[in-house]
Amino acid sequence: MLNYDIVVIGGGPAGLAAAIEAKKSGIDSILVIDRDRELGGILQQCIHNGFGLHEFKEELTGPEYAERFIEQLKELDIECKLDTMVIDITQDRLIHAINTEDGYMTIQAKAIVLAMGCRERTRGAIAIPGSRPAGIFTAGTAQRYINMEGYMVGKKVFILGSGDIGLIMARRLILEGAEVSAVAEVMPYSGGLTRNIVQCLEDFNIPLLLSHTIVDIKGKDKIEGVVLSKVDSHRKPIAGTEKYFECDTLLLSVGLIPENELSKSAGIEMDPATNGPIVNESMETTVEGIFACGNVVHVHDLVDYVSQESRRAGSNAAKYVKDMLIRNGSTLQARPGDGVGYIVPQIIRTDNLEKNLDLFMRVKNVYSHGKLVIRVDGVPVREIKKKHMAPGEMERIKLDLELLKDKNDSILSVEVEKEVV
Ligand SMILES: Cc1cc2nc3c(=O)[nH]c(=O)nc-3n(C[C@H](O)[C@H](O)[C@H](O)COP(=O)(O)OP(=O)(O)OC[C@H]3O[C@@H](n4cnc5c(N)ncnc54)[C@H](O)[C@@H]3O)c2cc1C
Repeated sequence: MLNYDIVVIGGGPAGLAAAIEAKKSGIDSILVIDRDRELGGILQQCIHNGFGLHEFKEELTGPEYAERFIEQLKELDIECKLDTMVIDITQDRLIHAINTEDGYMTIQAKAIVLAMGCRERTRGAIAIPGSRPAGIFTAGTAQRYINMEGYMVGKKVFILGSGDIGLIMARRLILEGAEVSAVAEVMPYSGGLTRNIVQCLEDFNIPLLLSHTIVDIKGKDKIEGVVLSKVDSHRKPIAGTEKYFECDTLLLSVGLIPENELSKSAGIEMDPATNGPIVNESMETTVEGIFACGNVVHVHDLVDYVSQESRRAGSNAAKYVKDMLIRNGSTLQARPGDGVGYIVPQIIRTDNLEKNLDLFMRVKNVYSHGKLVIRVDGVPVREIKKKHMAPGEMERIKLDLELLKDKNDSILSVEVEKEVV
């Protein structure tokens, strides 16, 4: 059996930042495990720019952003096992993993950092009717084929779902010479960042059809077209509004799900609103010594926030190994109020905070000129005015520790106050 102080599962931006921070916090015995052939996670297939504006104050591509962290990992001499799949973890931090070189391994860790990212929802997850022809991909799979493996997925493409990956792939396919008929979205608003709607659709004259969904897929061996329909306010197709679009490829960009099979097998409590583990201010899950960060906890919109959050997980995993985390101090529970879908972290032990608390959340609807109201035990402690809020954009609130001091067994809530657009 192998032994390490900290084992990080996942070598994407979350795992890299956590491992680097743990090492800088004085822990030498660290192992990063990833099932892919290289470090960097999803960033390696994101060859467009727009990464790193907060972290580095410059626009980098995904691989460039990842490379800055991979270089640091090398400089700090942090050990990695690539092409290695973690298949199980236990509550007492025993890791079961496998690769073709070492075979089956068990690894005992003093602390684990979960950084497995998320996966895309597929056609099965949204149950589109029709036969099962070839030519239907998730947008991220198409992105990997085109940007990393060198395969073009099709010539005439229809995209369902306006998540960021779909928007980015609409532009990418045009640049590669394909025709993109439209992007359809079942909701009355896009699930992607405003900047991606402008830069990836509007700049290329690709129509965004809101409140529409696919009601049939035509083609037996290979997709030949899709039937699109308008939907009502309950997202039910409206009869008589059907329209046929010929295509040889359908891309789905219909949401991401945190990759948490390992977390569940370790008995970690999950938050049904995020589909990720419940975490505290130190990014520790409900199982002592197991930390989590990045998209495995909640789906982030900007990788810069992944890096920030993951540094917190790494430094606190190091504190855990050194027995420096305070367990029995005052504790607040964070609860989403009206208009807010979720809040991370869900548990706040104020004695472990140094100065501020970073709260991350997503709102449930599109709001203009609203405000976020933060309450502790029902008493407003802060209000933040917002010109625009949308479910596609993560909200981040920095709360001063002073506002939370001496609050024990308290409820911290955040709610939206304003008109729905
Ligand atoms: C298509 C797309 C476009 C994006 N565009 C932008 C953008 O323009 N700007 C921006 O800031 N952000 C963007 N993002 C978001 C950003 O890429 C993610 O927020 C970030 O990659 C999340 O980091 P992560 O480390 O949590 O997860 P990931 O990058 O997904 O890394 C997770 C890693 O864990 C590994 N892993 C999982 N399970 C196991 C296991 N059992 N055993 C071993 N290894 C495992 C995986 O192989 C992977 O390498 C985009 C994301 C996507 C998908």
